[in-house]
Amino acid sequence: MSAPFRAGAIAVLGRPNVGKSTLVNALIGAKVSIVAPKPQTTRHRILGIRTTDKAQLVLVDTPGLHAPTGAAINRYLNRTARNSLDEVQAVALVVDVLRWTPEDDGALEVAVRSGLPIVLVINKIDKVPDRTKLLPLLGELSGRHAFAALVPVSAQKGQGIDGLFDTLVGLLPPGEPAFDEDMYTDRSERFIVAELVREQVARQLRDELPFATTIEIETWANEGGMLKIGAVIWVERDGQKAIVIGAGGQQIKRIGTYARKEIEKQFETKVFLELWVKVREKWSDDEAALRRFGYE
Ligand code: GDP
Ligand code: MG
Repeated sequence: MSAPFRAGAIAVLGRPNVGKSTLVNALIGAKVSIVAPKPQTTRHRILGIRTTDKAQLVLVDTPGLHAPTGAAINRYLNRTARNSLDEVQAVALVVDVLRWTPEDDGALEVAVRSGLPIVLVINKIDKVPDRTKLLPLLGELSGRHAFAALVPVSAQKGQGIDGLFDTLVGLLPPGEPAFDEDMYTDRSERFIVAELVREQVARQLRDELPFATTIEIETWANEGGMLKIGAVIWVERDGQKAIVIGAGGQQIKRIGTYARKEIEKQFETKVFLELWVKVREKWSDDEAALRRFGYE
């Protein structure tokens, strides 16, 4: 007798920057969630979906759990991460192989409180060339909770990902798939494009802007085999606008070029991308503005 088809969802939790979005993309085999070397890159709850002939795994990428201080957007991020636990059958808790911090304790606590089985995903093992060092670490980590499994991986290098996929599928109940087999995310094309632009803003500007930008798609048209997109990069201050534009428009040009290439890769079509930078004060601490930009 063949094994039953399994289907369900697993939340990917962890503190900021441990590699949750990179892991979701690696498990799905497509870029559903943007990645940048800084916290607060992931702002929305994003579904990644992968269907094989044996199972459909839905992964819920979440914003990192962080200390609940300050601006409205921080509260929104924590709420989004916690709420995603209501709809899943298990939790993948992601940590960085190099260090366990108090924020990891906090993330573990949130996961444990859900009462769901937890797989501890120990990411970035490419940073530990001597693999014998992993054994004592696994022993130590397994004492922190009765985990369903501990799986060392490198999301970036693709190491251990197939095994992790099988482990996660093993936690899903038998059931029918909820999504078409060719769907790999629940997000619209416009959303993905906005995220790809935001990814390049974060990458090109690095530390110059913390998280005070958001992207609004203004125009979208298919013309002569080409996707024509107009988007606004919203910032909070004139000074930030100047930084995003850069001397002689160099910075915005670079953001646009890289974003266009990513969009062309993802959608397999020629793209014409036009970007504007506009100022709206304090949008990240303004509940009404957050709603307007889609942070419900
Ligand atoms: P998130 O905030 O938890 O979603 O983390 P991201 O997926 O955005 O990744 C944060 C940073 O860690 C990025 O610079 C990634 O390229 C990097 N990263 C993710 N996975 C790995 C990995 O397996 N090895 C290494 N060396 N870096 C990784
Ligand atoms: Mg992320």
